[in-house]
Amino acid sequence: MRVVCGDCGAVADPLHICPCGGLPEFALDTPRLDPLGLRRVVRERRASYEPLFASGVWRLRELLPPIHAQHVVTLGEGNVPLYDSAAGARYAGVAHLAYLHLGMSPTGSFKDLGMTVAISAARARGARAVACASTGNTASSMAAYAARAGIDAIALVPRGRVSDAKLAQMREYGARIIDVDGSFDDAFAELERLGEVMVVNSVNAYRIEGQKCAAFALLEARGWRAPDWIALPGGNLGNISAFAKGLREARALGLIDRLPRIALIRAERGIDTAASAIAVGKPKSQARAQRALRDFNGVACMLNDDAIFAAKAAIGREGIGCEPASAASLGGLRALRAHGTIAPDADVVAVLTGHVLKDLRVRAHALA
Ligand SMILES: *Cc1c(COP(=O)(O)O)cnc(C)c1O
Ligand SMILES: [Zn+2]
Repeated sequence: MRVVCGDCGAVADPLHICPCGGLPEFALDTPRLDPLGLRRVVRERRASYEPLFASGVWRLRELLPPIHAQHVVTLGEGNVPLYDSAAGARYAGVAHLAYLHLGMSPTGSFKDLGMTVAISAARARGARAVACASTGNTASSMAAYAARAGIDAIALVPRGRVSDAKLAQMREYGARIIDVDGSFDDAFAELERLGEVMVVNSVNAYRIEGQKCAAFALLEARGWRAPDWIALPGGNLGNISAFAKGLREARALGLIDRLPRIALIRAERGIDTAASAIAVGKPKSQARAQRALRDFNGVACMLNDDAIFAAKAAIGREGIGCEPASAASLGGLRALRAHGTIAPDADVVAVLTGHVLKDLRVRAHALA
């Protein structure tokens, strides 16, 4: 598989930012499978007892960078539920709504889908240590997969801004935690000082390859019918970039015949939002998120913390639950419907990115 710079198109290294400032991306070669063959293979693998195919990511291995099965590090990620939600549809004011709950992943966030590929690549390359800057979920996922692989993990976290649950996970899995004064952006800047370690933030092209599988999981669960809209919370904007890549590939492969629109929801308070997982000031994937919004006729909106926590309460009361950042997807849908951007008859999927036990703040705004 070729790797190219997403900005200038030059041949690139999957682990390093291009001299032009663009991020590296794998370019999918035309696979040997036709769409019907691919759908059948995915279904057969889901039913098989082969450990590799217990993973919703590795079931799609023809679409991933080539990594030998002996190097694959998996926790059975990528098998997440799509929950129909009548209450969520009423809350947002749309005809049909379902939650793709990526918080139901091995370490409780969607980061696992990307991390399985990034850590497998690290193992295949003989890496001794991996590192990331994180608001918590990337680091807890990295810590678990690195531990499975026997690779050292170093987590740079903004001091005092990461939930206790996420810190507990990192410690449990044996990561070295380094507190950085400031925000996520400051922690990211510190990464450069670590020297020879493999960075597993979403600037690592392997991460995006794994995370794009969430789009295939969504489409497969819907019988390969694209919804009208997909709503996603955005922080560093790796997730929207990965969804867009997966959806583009699904379309190019003939698995779907039209593209959904994308709604990206960010926190109005930026680095100071109580939705800690999206407390990012300068997203590293800004340019590719802009391309995604353009290609998918998408929209971006900002939500205040009151609206985020109100949506979180609605998701919780239905017995589903998610962490604060995830609820931005439902809150954003409601706002976009109220503005008339989304039609009342829309068929919508809201992506829930993290598990309810990840961050126990309930209505933080009440204290502010
Ligand atoms: C990482 C994360 C996000 C933001 O995803 P990006 O790829 O950084 O935009 C949103 N919600 C949760 C729970 C996360 O862990
Ligand atoms: Zn470039």
